[in-house]
Amino acid sequence: MDSRELIELAERYGAHNYHPLPVVIAEAEGVFVWDAAGRRYLDCLSCYSALNHGHRHPRVVRAAKEQLDRVTLTSRAFHNAEMGPFLKELCEYTGMEMALPMNTGAEAVETALKAARKWAYQVKGVPRYEAEIVTCAGNFHGRTISVVSFSTEPLYREDFGPFTPGFRVVPYGDLEALERAITDRTAAFLVEPIQGEAGVILPPDGYLRAAADLCDRRNVLFIADEVQTGFGRTGRRFGCDHEGVRPDLAALGKALGGGVYPVSAVVGRAGVLGLFRPGEHGSTFGGNPLACAVAREALRVLDDERLVERSAALGTWLVEALRSIESPHVREVRGRGLFVGLELRPEAGGARRFCEALMERGLLCKETHEHVVRFAPPLVITQEQLEWAVEQVREVLTTL
Ligand SMILES: *Cc1c(COP(=O)(O)O)cnc(C)c1O
Repeated sequence: MDSRELIELAERYGAHNYHPLPVVIAEAEGVFVWDAAGRRYLDCLSCYSALNHGHRHPRVVRAAKEQLDRVTLTSRAFHNAEMGPFLKELCEYTGMEMALPMNTGAEAVETALKAARKWAYQVKGVPRYEAEIVTCAGNFHGRTISVVSFSTEPLYREDFGPFTPGFRVVPYGDLEALERAITDRTAAFLVEPIQGEAGVILPPDGYLRAAADLCDRRNVLFIADEVQTGFGRTGRRFGCDHEGVRPDLAALGKALGGGVYPVSAVVGRAGVLGLFRPGEHGSTFGGNPLACAVAREALRVLDDERLVERSAALGTWLVEALRSIESPHVREVRGRGLFVGLELRPEAGGARRFCEALMERGLLCKETHEHVVRFAPPLVITQEQLEWAVEQVREVLTTL
C-alpha cells in the first residue's frame, strides 16, 4: 500500500482526534524515519520528547528483546524481578525517596493529584473533600476528564464537562497570583518547569525556586510535571534542576520508556507517596517487567551516552543558530537544551505551512498552537545533523 492509501485507511476508520502531517512513517532508526516510499526525514519532534534516546536505540531494543524472552506481564498481584530494581534506580536517578509506576503521563499526573489530596486530608488536616490544587494557565497535563477540568484551552474542554471540582488556575510565572490563590485548603501547586504544549514557554528566572519556597512555607505540595521536560530534554536531568528545586512530587513519562514502550511514574517524598494503602490506587500494566526492563536501560543509556550534557551543549548552539536567521516571519526563538520554540509573527500565516514546507525538505517538525514551531530532536542528534536541520529552516523562513 502506498502512503495515500494508508492515510485513507486511518481517516476512514480512525476517530479524527489528530491532524497529522501527511507523512506515513514505516521505519526508523536513531534521528531518522523513512516513509512508506523509502524517503528519509530527520525527526525534530521526537514524539513530544518520548524519543530522547532516538528511534530504536540498540541498547533499549536489546533490553526489551531480552525481557520479551523472559516474562512480560505479571500484574501487581505478584512481585516481579524487574520492578524493585527499577524503582530503586529511578529514585536514585531523580534523587527521590519513593516511586509509583504507571504507564502514561496523564496517569502519572492523576496519581500525583490523588496523592496530594490524600496528603491534604491525612497529614495537612484539610476538611474532607475541600482540598484545592492550584494549576497554571496554559497548562498541559494530559487528556483525562479531571486533567482537562483545569485546562485553559477551550479545544481540550469543550463538550467534555461536567468537570472535576477542586482546581484553581493562576497565570503561569506569576508568583503573587500563586500566593493569593493559596488558602488553608490548598493541597498542592502543579506546574510544568517549561510549558511545552503551550509553545515552549519559559517562566521568569527564579520563578520555580520562589514558588517552591512559597509552597514550603505555606505547607503546600510542589508538584512538577516533568513528563516532557524530564530526562535531559532541557539540558539538565529535570527542568526543575535549573533552579535547584526538588519537588515534593514529580510526574514522569515519555522518555522514561526509552522510545520503545509507555512507562510513567510519580516520584517523590515518602511522606506523601507512602500514604497509599493496598487497593487505593493501581494499574494493570503499571510496573510490568517489560516496562521496567526498558526503563532501567533507558536510564543507563542517558548517563552512559551523556545525553543530558549533549542536550545542553547542542541546545545552546541551536538557539543561537536559529536566532541568526534573518527572516521577517520570526518573532522569537527561545528554549533550554534541545527544547526550542520558534515563534512566528501572527502575519506569517500560522506555523503549519512552515512545518509542511520543512517536511517537503525532509525535516519533521510540528506546530504547537497557531504560531510556534517546536524543535525537540532526539538527544542523540549530532552537530552536523543539527546544522543540516537549521539550513532547512533557514531556507524555508527566507523563501516562504
Ligand atoms: C505529554 C504530556 C502529558 C501526558 O502524557 P501522556 O503520556 O500523553 O498521557 C502530561 N504532561 C505533560 C507536560 C506532557 O507533555
